[in-house]
Amino acid sequence: MEGRSLDADTQMATVKNIIGVASGKGGVGKSTVSLNLALALSQTGAKVGLLDADIYGPSIPLMLGMKDGSMEVEDNKLQPADSNGLKVVSFGFFADQSNQAAIYRGPIISGILKQFLVDTNWSELDYLIVDLPPGTGDIPLTLAQTIPITGILVITTPQDVASNVAVKAVSMFEKLNVPIIGVIENMSHFICPNCDDKHYIFGSGGAKKISEQFKIPFLGEIPLNYGIMSGSDLGKPIMITDVDSPSANAFRVSAKNVAAQCSIIASNLQEEMESEASDAEPSSITSISENPTS
Ligand code: ADP
Repeated sequence: MEGRSLDADTQMATVKNIIGVASGKGGVGKSTVSLNLALALSQTGAKVGLLDADIYGPSIPLMLGMKDGSMEVEDNKLQPADSNGLKVVSFGFFADQSNQAAIYRGPIISGILKQFLVDTNWSELDYLIVDLPPGTGDIPLTLAQTIPITGILVITTPQDVASNVAVKAVSMFEKLNVPIIGVIENMSHFICPNCDDKHYIFGSGGAKKISEQFKIPFLGEIPLNYGIMSGSDLGKPIMITDVDSPSANAFRVSAKNVAAQCSIIASNLQEEMESEASDAEPSSITSISENPTS
């Protein structure tokens, strides 16, 4: 397996936090959650980028109403598209290639992702959200091995059929020593518009189970809501069109928790680096005893 390139570390130095959004299987709302979390973070005043790395089914352009969007290249760098304050890059913006993606093999796919990451003019970002394809294939591996990512956010739905596969994704990232930011449960429950009661249509507890099994933070639950679905299809995300809805509120809570976990991971890393640096330095006592006459 290829090692991480220092070049990539340097080139991504203007991006403070890189968050990979992963799921075990498709259709659990990974892209929907990636986009609305990105918007929720941006609405707090943070500078946010969104990289749609779901190469086999890039859905972010549709969800942002940018189906015919494209990207410019200036000074050999991709210029991300601007949408609702987000800097957006998607394989879907390259229409011809996107139709061919299904036949691309691992190394080509990995190469494209690396280019999207390091050859894009992201400028200063507080968060770069990377919407990964579902599963444990080449793209999640490339992300983990190429770039200093802050961590992985896992999206699941409550059913065993989704959470049992999400476990495989968590295990893979743990083996690669990539921090797991936490888990969010999407389509968690349905809030009845008449009585406001929560109905657990798909059962309950899928994400909590993963959180307990792997001792990773449970960061939020997003309701099943018609507005989320129709907004995605119409290119009008709920974080823009219905900011006071319970769904938008759920995204805001999750975004706050994600931001808090990123800070914790960053400060743990800082501590580790400081303690490694002080282990490497000879202590003053050692140097005195080694040079008693100096
Ligand atoms: P994935 O990226 O995991 O394949 P998507 O984000 O494309 O999943 O979502 C799959 C479908 O489910 C889309 O039609 C989307 O609008 C819908 N969806 C996702 N989350 C919700 C939700 N919380 N409530 C209602 N529909 C949702």
